[in-house]
Amino acid sequence: MSEIEHPKPGIDWETRAYWEGAKRHELILQRCSSCAAIQHRPRALCVSCFADTIEYFRASGRGSVYSYTITHQNQSPGFRNATPYVLAWVELEEGVRLLSNIVGCSPDKVRIGMPIEVDFADIDGEVAIPRFRPR
Ligand SMILES: [Zn+2]
Repeated sequence: MSEIEHPKPGIDWETRAYWEGAKRHELILQRCSSCAAIQHRPRALCVSCFADTIEYFRASGRGSVYSYTITHQNQSPGFRNATPYVLAWVELEEGVRLLSNIVGCSPDKVRIGMPIEVDFADIDGEVAIPRFRPR
């Protein structure tokens, strides 16, 4: 078993601040300055009030496993040698969820509600992929 070889993400103007933060090993979320809603994934508008008054901030990086699955088969390049691996919905302390991987423990040790913290997988010094490990 080896680590997932993540494909490089498509980065555009809506996601640039998120990926630039990840490269610095900072998990970046958006907050609406009109209604204070916090959101992820990055968007041009607030999904709660549709204002375009979006601000970025560094998240705590802490959260818990909301749900997960253990992938035993994936023939895609970059993934086939990493099975079994954990794909999880992570609920951040800020209240939003993101889809990520749980690393740093055996997949059979992962549990719903398990406390986790962000970690980053660097790719060629160009980008970094957020993932989570037990804390
Ligand atoms: Zn809003």
